[in-house]
Amino acid sequence: MKSRIILKFAVIAFIIMGITTSCQQKVDEKTTFDVSLIDKNFEPAHDFYHYVNNGWLEKYPLPDDESRYGSFDQLAKETSKKVQSLVEELASTDHEQGTIEQKIGDFYALGMDIDKINEQGLTPLQAEFKRISSIKTTKDVQDQIAHFHLHGIGSLFGFGGSPDPKMSDMNIAHITQSGLGMSDRDYYTNTDARSKQIRDAYVKHVEKMLSLSGISEENAKEKALTIMDMETRLAKASFTRLENRDPNATYNKKSQEEVKNLYSNFDWDNYMANMGLEYDGVINVRQPKFFDEMNKMLKDVSIEDWKTYFHWNLLHSTANYIGSEFEKEHFNFFGKTMQGSEKMRERWRRVLGVTNRALGDAIGQKFTEKHFPPQAKERMVNLVENLRDGLGQRIDNLEWMSEETKVKAHEKLATMRVKIGYPDQWEDYSNLQIGDKSYVLNVLEANKFRRKDNLNEIGKPVDKDEWFMTPQTVNAYYAPSMNEICFPAGILQPPFFYLEGDDAINYGAIGAVIGHEMTHGFDDQGRLYDKEGNLNNWWKAEDSERFEKRAQVLVDQFNNIFVLDTLRADGKLSLGENIADLGGLNIAYTAFQNAQKQNPQEKMIDGYTPNQRFFLSWARVWSQNIRDKEIIRRTKEDVHSLGINRVHGPIANMPEFHEAFNVEPGDELYIPQEERASIW
Ligand SMILES: [Zn+2]
Repeated sequence: MKSRIILKFAVIAFIIMGITTSCQQKVDEKTTFDVSLIDKNFEPAHDFYHYVNNGWLEKYPLPDDESRYGSFDQLAKETSKKVQSLVEELASTDHEQGTIEQKIGDFYALGMDIDKINEQGLTPLQAEFKRISSIKTTKDVQDQIAHFHLHGIGSLFGFGGSPDPKMSDMNIAHITQSGLGMSDRDYYTNTDARSKQIRDAYVKHVEKMLSLSGISEENAKEKALTIMDMETRLAKASFTRLENRDPNATYNKKSQEEVKNLYSNFDWDNYMANMGLEYDGVINVRQPKFFDEMNKMLKDVSIEDWKTYFHWNLLHSTANYIGSEFEKEHFNFFGKTMQGSEKMRERWRRVLGVTNRALGDAIGQKFTEKHFPPQAKERMVNLVENLRDGLGQRIDNLEWMSEETKVKAHEKLATMRVKIGYPDQWEDYSNLQIGDKSYVLNVLEANKFRRKDNLNEIGKPVDKDEWFMTPQTVNAYYAPSMNEICFPAGILQPPFFYLEGDDAINYGAIGAVIGHEMTHGFDDQGRLYDKEGNLNNWWKAEDSERFEKRAQVLVDQFNNIFVLDTLRADGKLSLGENIADLGGLNIAYTAFQNAQKQNPQEKMIDGYTPNQRFFLSWARVWSQNIRDKEIIRRTKEDVHSLGINRVHGPIANMPEFHEAFNVEPGDELYIPQEERASIW
């Protein structure tokens, strides 16, 4: 069995939402849709989002420690609290050494012991710093990179096992761009005022971190500039987010001989040996131009500068585990400057997040035993099958898809695998040693365990039972290389899934999420993969042309949305997700109408018809308060649209919504028929 949380380069799991998390408010147990939060001062035909959510937005203002807080984040927070109580119980009792209870308990308890962590400071990392300072040769430089990679410390490039995009049964090695401290290459290259400001703040941040680690102020200043120069070179050679969305552009399979010839300044044999790998198979070079630049840098960057860069890599990767000063400084830049957060999250949330990454499956097993009722799975299986039928029906009715392609679309839909709740087989942690000596060393040990697990997969058949999320995760995904959708137990709670709720609110929320994930198998990226999960376009050219023409309508609609002052949404970056939202809602609507025929729901609940409740439920899922800086950051980085646009974007295109809420020409949410987007 394999670790759950690993960067799978080629799998491209399409998630339902770029998650952050949440706050302190106590929330009432919700068993059904809460109409008391609807604000009738707003007209549904003008501003449906605020009509449904204004009460929510006022009741749950943005906490200081969040950059975004939505009903999604609220659920994540509530779920974390359940996990917290499980973990704290383990942390406060004694367990036999080597048991999973001991590992979870010690890991969490040590993370919470900030006094001990502060007292130790950098001491646990002394051996690591010594290793760096004793680097003398080019070989030492390259050994260090492998050493970091083995311990999950980001440096220079990324390496890992993942399915071969064109032979999805088999895991191969992939190399990918990496090595940046900031989360997007554009921050290094954009010339606008805010990007320049961010760069200046970043250099100051690096400088501060170096000083904190004991480097003199003067040296720290100089070294920070060196680091910025090196990262900027890497950034300039990196693909943009859009370029990385093209699976054909990132598919460059090479033999090891070819890789050695192309990037001859790196000793690949030595690297493989350092990683403990006996693998002579192919390597997928995801961004060739990045590796061209890396190859040059290995020759023309001095050994002294590499040492500076490594020192920074180590501090940056471990900042949250080596004491309050580092943690605060890390937050000052990444939390405050980048996201606009005012306060760090409470310690338990941060430590729980790290514990989840280290031992997520073991925690998930305990979580689902306690919090995931079998009836939830049953109802969910039913929903998924109805959604599958709904999409099938809609495929039959598409006027733009050729008959030939429809046959293949049906095949792909029929073979789409579904995972619900939790995996059949749990991860085995017996080879992971967790002690009570040092938090940061525990983290590095857990990283190493996951890395090794992943390295072991290279050259071997793909395990189709593997999950890419832990059961306690509040999210969902579609994995093209597996042609599968996955809904962890975490998302099967309100406001997505109401175990006791009426069909309308379930189809409008989790139903649309299921539909959303399904369409990812057929969107601008997903359709490039066939039913086996191989990168193999099964559409005819005319289908692609018609699809793209229809997709362009959505690109234009979103490009015209102002998200903040003069900043507009990025219709191209968010296209796949916007298609999925529109398609998901349409498919869910069809499935809901089918369900109504078999099992009609009472006419009105809380003053709303079933069709109205369907749309109310969708809108509630996306209620969120968000900071301006976070709007800017997400518009740049997140493929998902902002909450308000995830609501208004799809419904304005749906005649069913217009009918349910009497939307007429002249209303804000009215789009004339000939200008509407319609894909699925
Ligand atoms: Zn999605």
